[in-house]
Amino acid sequence: MTGRFDLPEADAFTRTYWDAAAEGRLLIRRCGACGRAHHYPREFCPHCWSEDVTWETASGRATLYTWSVVHRNDLPPFSDRVPYVAAVVELAEGPRMMTEIVVAAPHRDGEDVGLSGGADLEVVFREGVPVFRPVAGG
Ligand code: ZN
Repeated sequence: MTGRFDLPEADAFTRTYWDAAAEGRLLIRRCGACGRAHHYPREFCPHCWSEDVTWETASGRATLYTWSVVHRNDLPPFSDRVPYVAAVVELAEGPRMMTEIVVAAPHRDGEDVGLSGGADLEVVFREGVPVFRPVAGG
C-alpha cells in the first residue's frame, strides 16, 4: 500500500477540511441560524437544516466520551496499527467526533489503557488526519 490511503476521498466541499487538517487545523461547521456546531462537515446544518453554515477553526480541545481498544481489523491501514484505541470524543465546541486516541501502550493490561471518561484531550495530526491524545496532567 502506498500513500495516504486512510484519508477519505476529498470532494470539493470536504477538501477545505482536509487542506486545513494538513496545516494542523481542525475545522468544524457552525450554523448561523441556530448557532450550533457540527462534525463531520455537512453542507447544511443537521440540527435545523439551515444552509447558513460556515467553517470555524476548532480549539482542538475535547473530552473523552467513549472508547474501545481494537485488537483486530483486517482493513488497511488499521491492520498495521492494532491494537489502537477507537473513540468518540466531545469537542469543546459541542460536536462529537469519531477518532482515534493516541496512547503509549494500547495493549497494556488488556483494556486498561489509562483512559477514563471525561478525560481532557487535545488534537494532534498524524499524516494529515486529526487524532487525539490525553492532555498531560489532565
Ligand atoms: Zn442550525
